[in-house]
Amino acid sequence: MRPPLLNEQSKPGLQAVAFPVTNDPVDLPAEHRRQTPAPLPEVAEVDVVRHFTILSKDNFSVDTHFYPLGSCTMKYNPKVNEYVSALPGFAQLHPLQPASHAQGAMRLIFELEQMLGEICGMDAFTLQPAAGAHGELTGMLIARAAHLARGKPRRKVLVPSSAHGTNPASARLAGFQIVTVPGAPDGLLHPDQVAPLIDEDTAAIMLTNPNTLGVFEEHILEIARMAHEKGALLYYDGANLNALLGLCRPGDMGFDIVHVNLHKTFSTPHGGGGPGAGPVGVKKHLAPFLPSPRAQQNPDGSFSWQHNLPQSIGKMRAFHGNFSVLARAYAYIRALGWEGLRAASRAAIIHANYIKKQLEDKFPAYTNRPCMHECVLMANHLKEAGLTVRDIAKRILDYGYHAPTIAWPIHDCLMIEPTETESKETLDAFISAMRKVAREIETESYTLQHAPHHMPIQRVDEVKAARELRLRD
Ligand SMILES: *Cc1c(COP(=O)(O)O)cnc(C)c1O
Repeated sequence: MRPPLLNEQSKPGLQAVAFPVTNDPVDLPAEHRRQTPAPLPEVAEVDVVRHFTILSKDNFSVDTHFYPLGSCTMKYNPKVNEYVSALPGFAQLHPLQPASHAQGAMRLIFELEQMLGEICGMDAFTLQPAAGAHGELTGMLIARAAHLARGKPRRKVLVPSSAHGTNPASARLAGFQIVTVPGAPDGLLHPDQVAPLIDEDTAAIMLTNPNTLGVFEEHILEIARMAHEKGALLYYDGANLNALLGLCRPGDMGFDIVHVNLHKTFSTPHGGGGPGAGPVGVKKHLAPFLPSPRAQQNPDGSFSWQHNLPQSIGKMRAFHGNFSVLARAYAYIRALGWEGLRAASRAAIIHANYIKKQLEDKFPAYTNRPCMHECVLMANHLKEAGLTVRDIAKRILDYGYHAPTIAWPIHDCLMIEPTETESKETLDAFISAMRKVAREIETESYTLQHAPHHMPIQRVDEVKAARELRLRD
């Protein structure tokens, strides 16, 4: 039974908060004042609170459940980061306050840029982009501006077929033509696949390493050499850095431009369209093209905005990025330090390999290489049983786990990213639930087609839910 909607509970005269009545509460000209009351439900405060609290209990979240959603890094986010980002000196800043009134926030921005530069092996960062895809667009506009500045505009961007969908979309938005690099059976990008596609009209290659199959691109140095030989730039999709922290750096692999999703690796709760941050880092030769303004430290130690940047691609966002996300990432990095970051990545890699190994007889890995922070698994006997990976994803909800990513980057796969924040007990319990599902498939003992059976709502038509969004009935 669904709880009644607030509209259904509405009774004239009820209200949640009673404000004192004043004669003229706001100095608003009469013609701009509302003549008729807004058509909102009238309910008491206690009923509003109960309504939303009851609904919230139907949610899956990292704070309530293990959430191994591959590529999305749903790690637990320490609450101290929330505390830091909500400090009044940060939370109550107005974005139009001059830098001289916001030296603490300016220092945080400046130092976070330095720390990300150190982690990624890049020379300069901008914190403006509001998400990963926005960072990709920023990076592609920088690539376009850099080629234009050399007097040789270029038209093509190479993107592997397994890339995150935002990669070709961002390159296209920046005006490039997309050339798809096909995947190889071993899951790696090979120089001889790239060679015939790259030429003097190639502006950039967009890659992620480890790639979306969770394996490390062993030929990256050779591919970087080939790209640079043709004058193309190497773009790194660092949405997910969980395998790399303190272990290796995109800058050292030859990448010229990177974006990083602070909301994934650096501990901001995300999903459901909440705010993110997709900072972009570049090598020195591309720094003049970064968005303006840029944070700088003056000789007296104070911080200010540098606006006079003639080659900059301009502003990518109003004001200075999603500052509360920046504050969380800063707190997270400072709390862990270099050794802590390295330990986090090591644990993330070990956890993914542990799951891969423990499940290999039922869910064999797509490639037999060691995986990095996530593993891509296939399912035995699915077709014979007339099932799809979606049925597994739905059934695992019944056992109390968020579903892994499915059917991407290849058909019929499950992409599992356990993250470093889970205990061995949690991983073992998940492995045992996955083995139960495997047994249900083998013995056809359960109607997986109709799972989930023990959730507030049963199987939903996801396409219809996205295309015909009706929230009222
Ligand atoms: C999440 C992700 C993106 C996109 O990031 P958003 O913040 O959702 O725009 C891009 N690439 C990869 C590999 C990702 O996992």
